[in-house]
Amino acid sequence: MSRKSKKYGCPHCENTEGFTEANVLNADASVLNFDREGEPNYAGESEIDWNSQTLDQNTAEPYRCDACGKSFVKPSIVPHTRREKSA
Ligand SMILES: [Zn+2]
Repeated sequence: MSRKSKKYGCPHCENTEGFTEANVLNADASVLNFDREGEPNYAGESEIDWNSQTLDQNTAEPYRCDACGKSFVKPSIVPHTRREKSA
């Protein structure tokens, strides 16, 4: 008997491993000084607050499949095609 394991994956190509999730996070940019218009002159360094990393809610399809390159909203259940050998 093969154990039925529910797997989620890409709704386009049924890939189940290797995805990219669109994230947003906060960063503090170093400002060297301000120009005559009061606009910042950046020092060229930013400190990223990794604890602020979250799913990008402004993206309609935040997940991208590494295999087919297509984006999707949520993963779908992929039919288990490969047979698991019984012990
Ligand atoms: Zn895919």
